[in-house]
Amino acid sequence: MPATYDIIIIGDGCASMMLLEALSRRKGFDTINILLLGEGAKLDRSWCFWEKEMPRPYQSMVKQTWNKMAVLSSTLTKTETLIKRPYHYIPGEAFFAYFTEQFLPVHQNVHHLLAPVTGIEGRPGRFTVHTQQGSYHTAQVYNSGFTPAPPKVEVWQHFRGWFIEWDQPVHDPETVVLMDFDVPQDKGFSFMYVLPLSSRSALVEYTFFGSTLWEAQTYEAELKVYIEKKYGTGYRITRAENGKIPMQLDVFSATGPCGEINIGTLGGMVKAGTGYAFRRMRHDSEALAEAWFNNKTPQRAGSSKRFAWYDSLLLWIIQYHPEACKSIFTQLFAGQKMEQVIRFMDEETKLPEELLIFSTLPKRIFIQALFARRPKSAQKSLLKSEPVFSTT
Ligand SMILES: Cc1cc2nc3c(=O)[nH]c(=O)nc-3n(C[C@H](O)[C@H](O)[C@H](O)COP(=O)(O)OP(=O)(O)OC[C@H]3O[C@@H](n4cnc5c(N)ncnc54)[C@H](O)[C@@H]3O)c2cc1C
Repeated sequence: MPATYDIIIIGDGCASMMLLEALSRRKGFDTINILLLGEGAKLDRSWCFWEKEMPRPYQSMVKQTWNKMAVLSSTLTKTETLIKRPYHYIPGEAFFAYFTEQFLPVHQNVHHLLAPVTGIEGRPGRFTVHTQQGSYHTAQVYNSGFTPAPPKVEVWQHFRGWFIEWDQPVHDPETVVLMDFDVPQDKGFSFMYVLPLSSRSALVEYTFFGSTLWEAQTYEAELKVYIEKKYGTGYRITRAENGKIPMQLDVFSATGPCGEINIGTLGGMVKAGTGYAFRRMRHDSEALAEAWFNNKTPQRAGSSKRFAWYDSLLLWIIQYHPEACKSIFTQLFAGQKMEQVIRFMDEETKLPEELLIFSTLPKRIFIQALFARRPKSAQKSLLKSEPVFSTT
């Protein structure tokens, strides 16, 4: 096995595979030697996102697409057709099956080694990557896995969900319930998320935005109450899924301490205000691949300053006034078309549109957030104990 590569990619999860796929569509890919370093961890997760047109190969991984979306609350029942941007669901099994069974076997220039990375040294053009199985040299490192001191994450989107099945039709398979706020808010801002996979099956997730993670029983007690209240008894639980997504500004950065390029969650691709990253990582992969082949500085896909600022206000409210969140989100969806909210969440709106959106939200709490928001330096502290990628 060679000790020197043109590119080393650390981590064999979502962002790394997307980057490989984007690189592979460029002329000359087969002549570059790539080392993909991973832990071989089975990532038991799925991805949902809004997208008008899905490019290959992602199109073939989509298991479900919803053309209608509902948001429910004690004061709101709103369902709208998603004309321009349907909501797609890619199960992790389909994503990784494509890469391990189809992509990697045909690209012999990519060496996939299960060897956890223990350190990165050097500088752009001359890196050494240390692993549990030896050290490797390269000019370019893309890192989605290794963190010497994991960033401290204060706000998580954390959840537990059940895949459930019924003998009779129960769900409307056309409509995804993005948020149902008709759940107790006493433990923090929370909602149910219902992805109907057919009229007789669904993934129902109890989701929190906040800093305290709960034991499985806490999520499950409410899942049971909710499912039985909304749909009835007589269901079977076929699988459980849980996870936590960092909702944080400033603790992730586009490059690491040696000048390596951070990608995925580590590279700040998770939108702090929503927890979505799939679409953004795809765009970032394109930018990185284009830059590598043209020897240019990449135009990274992270949040603009304006949207990062909006997210910082929301995160402050989530952290210090979670009781205000139900009415903020209810008013957000009540006050405009759903596709406009999606464009806003995907950071595609213009300032005048955003002012209109803000005019529909509770004002006092945002003014409070404006004045009370902590200085950025306070958000940069590092925690040495808990790995940020522990998602279950
Ligand atoms: C449960 C869950 C559900 C999500 N759902 C959505 C969704 O529906 N829509 C959306 O847009 N976003 C979603 N996200 C956010 C985001 O899209 C995912 O977290 C995505 O997997 C991030 O990709 P990544 O490559 O950065 O991290 P990962 O996919 O977690 O990959 C990181 C990889 O690095 C490896 N690694 C870690 N340490 C080392 C080391 N020292 N050496 C070598 N390898 C290492 C890990 O084993 C892992 O394979 C979700 C996140 C989670 C946690």
